[in-house]
Amino acid sequence: MKEGGRKQGAPSPCAACKLLRRRCAQDCVFAPYFPADEPQKFANVHKVFGASNVNKMLQVGSYLAILSSLCNTF
Ligand SMILES: [Zn+2]
Repeated sequence: MKEGGRKQGAPSPCAACKLLRRRCAQDCVFAPYFPADEPQKFANVHKVFGASNVNKMLQVGSYLAILSSLCNTF
């Protein structure tokens, strides 16, 4: 699926934004933990915690570290 002529500043979303269908900001907090080339990683987290919890974690940034370490156990 080629996407020519995209607006600039719209790189491919990280795995989290892709799955949650949110706009991936340039400073997206998920991006470092869930790169676009590892969609399964976030899919697992999403399955376990659910979207609303993941969003909550987004707001409480410290959870991301926990999330990230959990990811490595999947
Ligand atoms: Zn993102």
